[in-house]
Amino acid sequence: MKIKHDKKQTTTALLKWYEMHARILPWRDKPTSYHVWVSEIMLQQTRIEAVKPYYERFIDALPTLSSLAYASDEQLAKLWEGLGYYRRISNMKLAAIICMQEHHGELPHSYVELLKLPGIGPYTAGAIASIAFNEKCCAIDGNVLRVFSRLLCSEDDILKESTKKKFREIVTSYMPKDKSADFNQAIMELGEVVCIPNGAPLCHVCPLQDNCIAYQKGMQLTLPNKTPKKKRRIENHTLLLFTFKEEVLLHQRNSTGLLASLYEFINIDEELDQGVIENGLRSKGIPFKSITLLPNYKHIFSHIEWHINGFHIELIDQIEVENEYLWANSSQLISQYTIPTAFQKYLQILLIWWNRRIT
Ligand code: SF4
Repeated sequence: MKIKHDKKQTTTALLKWYEMHARILPWRDKPTSYHVWVSEIMLQQTRIEAVKPYYERFIDALPTLSSLAYASDEQLAKLWEGLGYYRRISNMKLAAIICMQEHHGELPHSYVELLKLPGIGPYTAGAIASIAFNEKCCAIDGNVLRVFSRLLCSEDDILKESTKKKFREIVTSYMPKDKSADFNQAIMELGEVVCIPNGAPLCHVCPLQDNCIAYQKGMQLTLPNKTPKKKRRIENHTLLLFTFKEEVLLHQRNSTGLLASLYEFINIDEELDQGVIENGLRSKGIPFKSITLLPNYKHIFSHIEWHINGFHIELIDQIEVENEYLWANSSQLISQYTIPTAFQKYLQILLIWWNRRIT
């Protein structure tokens, strides 16, 4: 069987398809460099549908790069609450400050300069430079690697840096002059809605079917090739929600490391059962009204999995606390203190419980 693949036809079909099928997304409305940057950072590790409300709220609150540079850490953490990977937002603030000081309050206009900013890697720099400034450079993410692996029937391991480098050159060679913005967005879009991961790609509606080598060889289900990821480390945690009347005890995490500076309920990094907790409270002379077991929860970070079991401890008296510990009521939990996604399930349980007590 003669395999067909024509570069020019592939690009033309892709752009034509994108022109007709591009989804309406809030950041596509006015693709300034700031809008593209915010959306691309939010989209790392998060689905488009989940990002939309966060993006709109963020842009309403901080419509310009300078407003981001001058925003307080608390406001930023609150706007990011629920998106996870909080280092992304601290890097964005740092990058915004650098832009205010060194780039006249704008993101730099070139791929090379963008790459020098904190939190901006080759993918994000490529996305901003191509979409906002139409620079001829590609933005290689998982979608692009998947589409091109199948399109060219490449068995290279897409998790390897050498493959990404190789694909950068290949993808750029398909990119037409002055159309890099549409081209990059078209491949990403195709990878998200047609040449999808985890299951059969929708080849019957794909504009590239005629030129796709994997499709012609019947190999679309076996590609892309990627080495299995290392298993995540599992850590057991016990979360204690100490409440007194309508307040809960919080702890502010260290200023470095995982979930830096964010607030958590009392979080012990081992699995404790109810008997051990009761004995611990009695030996410390902490009087309590009740201890209730809460549902277990599993939270996945990139390399670690937290297996959390939680207990609600209703105290008879409020414990005096200082330094990084504090008591917070429901409105402070909602508007002031940022509770990371890992603990949101328990926050919701607590808010429902308080609400029921009031009504
Ligand atoms: Fe992907 Fe199928 Fe299109 Fe090939 S034909 S690019 S495998 S969706």
